[in-house]
Amino acid sequence: MSANGTGVVVAESATPLPEGVKLPIYMDNHATTPLDPRVLEAMMPYFTSTFGNAASRNHSFGWEAEKAVEKAREQVAKLIGASAKEIIFTSGATESNNLALKGIAEMYRERGNHIITQVTEHKAVLDTCKKLEKQGYRVTYLPVGADGLIDIEDLKRAIDDKTILVSIMFANNEIGVLQPVREIGAICKEKGILFHTDGVQAVGKIPVDVQKDNIDVMSLSGHKIYGPKGVGALYVRRRNPRVQISEQINGGGHERGMRSGTLNVPGIVGLGAACEIAMNEMEAEGKREQELRDYLKNKLETALDYVHVNGNMEHHLPGNLNMSFVYVEGESLLMGINDIAVSSGSACTSATLEPSYVLKALGLGDDVAHSSIRFGLGRFNTKAEVDYVSDKIIDVVKKLRELSPLYEMVKEGIDLSKIEWAAH
Ligand SMILES: *Cc1c(COP(=O)(O)O)cnc(C)c1O
Repeated sequence: MSANGTGVVVAESATPLPEGVKLPIYMDNHATTPLDPRVLEAMMPYFTSTFGNAASRNHSFGWEAEKAVEKAREQVAKLIGASAKEIIFTSGATESNNLALKGIAEMYRERGNHIITQVTEHKAVLDTCKKLEKQGYRVTYLPVGADGLIDIEDLKRAIDDKTILVSIMFANNEIGVLQPVREIGAICKEKGILFHTDGVQAVGKIPVDVQKDNIDVMSLSGHKIYGPKGVGALYVRRRNPRVQISEQINGGGHERGMRSGTLNVPGIVGLGAACEIAMNEMEAEGKREQELRDYLKNKLETALDYVHVNGNMEHHLPGNLNMSFVYVEGESLLMGINDIAVSSGSACTSATLEPSYVLKALGLGDDVAHSSIRFGLGRFNTKAEVDYVSDKIIDVVKKLRELSPLYEMVKEGIDLSKIEWAAH
């Protein structure tokens, strides 16, 4: 036993460290991704020699910066089947989501005040919707099924003659499920309603095409696709229909008036490079990550009982696995695997651990939600790492369950179905 610095004593495991594996292991690629060295290389000159302001029209420093920004705009557009003029650079997807929702709500206020979204959106969408509700907009939050997907019939029923916008995410950041975006977009198109999607977790990981997928407006972020933090983009359709967005930041009229402020040239160059790499490598990398993910899933399911996978696995991101380890206390589990960076089914608010609202929306009980782990496999994870991670989890879960009276009762055949703890 050893102290972990917090005064809490944790079980020390003897899980062997495979060759080439360094601790701690990063397996939380939905939270953020490491910068790809090739992206860094592309960015470097724009911190030093090519430092111009892309809005400077009178000298070559400005022209060089502008040229780099326009190249990045092409790279981003190409990845999603858009044209360069439809890409607005922002400080990240939180800003993109704010700009999309507030900008459309404001611009189309005359036409209606109703917005439709769903309960497992990222907070950047949910909190923006709450703000809009305070300003007199009506927001419908569609439920999701136990598999994490919305029901298209619910969407159809929610639409009324005041609906101006539907915002449904492409891929969920916790459970990795893919919403039926193409179908949602087709319904919106038919009804003349704008369709925004938070594409952060999908873009660069799976094929996303704003034409085929019937998307009018889409948010994306640099640091989720091996690019830098603090840069993102908003795709805004220019034809069929031409989407108008009321700017939320004023001052200078950059980005076609939709987003003022001196452009983050190195960041934008990095986002562009990240998009180009993703486009070239997505197919092979997606396959590789999915194989690793399935390998991890099978290993855990074979070695442990009372585990279950959260979210529909057919419509799913290749690198995501969200699994509940029932009859294990979430905090102890995380403590036991403190050399592995993953996310838990708990969200830290001020003093207490709140169960994840996404897992709750699937119908999981608080304790099962707390016992869940999100594995986010990414470009730099190896099979040897997956072996270490799975061995370690199996070891720690088994040890913790030896100490769990509930697990002992279940093993002895006592029916716990009426005990709230077991409900999910
Ligand atoms: C990370 C994330 C965001 C926020 O993006 P930032 O660029 O960090 O502001 C929004 N939506 C989803 C689904 C995300 O995963």
